[in-house]
Amino acid sequence: MVNILSTNEPALKAKIGILALQGDFQEHSSILCSMGCSSVIEVRLPEHLNDIDGLIIPGGESTTISKLIENYDFTTSLEDYYKENNPIWGTCAGSIVIAKSAVGLEPWKPLNFIDISIQRNGYGRQLDSFQTSLTINKLTSKSAFEGIFIRAPKIISVGKGVEILSVLDNQDPVAVQQKNVLATTFHPELTRDFRFHQLFLDLVSKKLLDQIQDE
Ligand code: GLN
Repeated sequence: MVNILSTNEPALKAKIGILALQGDFQEHSSILCSMGCSSVIEVRLPEHLNDIDGLIIPGGESTTISKLIENYDFTTSLEDYYKENNPIWGTCAGSIVIAKSAVGLEPWKPLNFIDISIQRNGYGRQLDSFQTSLTINKLTSKSAFEGIFIRAPKIISVGKGVEILSVLDNQDPVAVQQKNVLATTFHPELTRDFRFHQLFLDLVSKKLLDQIQDE
């Protein structure tokens, strides 16, 4: 059975969770629903993680998200979820929350799910927000992806095991991947371009197919 499934199919049936403590989780949810995902779950309590095949941590305010992660006792459950090699994608504030180190997040500590150092508001304040065309390796079609950067963090270093999927003209990395963890400092959920969400769903599909094969 397994080999006749397109890689897309399992992910459309998968349960995709979006951490819904603060930020633009509804925008992610709306894109996934438009793509045909049958089960999109707003993760508000640690136990909701037991039931999902992939997790998105949205943009918003990384200090608030980190504070709520602590207040709602999410840290250990998120760490366990990560250790099980589940696909996780952080966008903008979400990329800060999952980094190895985050300048400006103090007193909160990032979760260390991807070996990057990141600086909050690294391109300046709200007025310095910008939009630019990006080339993204790994996307199905190579046409430009509109990168929307809103008080975006700057990735200041990446570890050896991290693959850089896209850079700005000045070579700053803006989309990175380490195994099943993705981080983007821009907001694909604010476009109607589904390709980045597709890339994430492909990771979810692959994980599910590997699981079926292991059984
Ligand atoms: N500047 C915000 C932070 O540090 C991130 C902004 C965003 O997610 N658009 O959390």
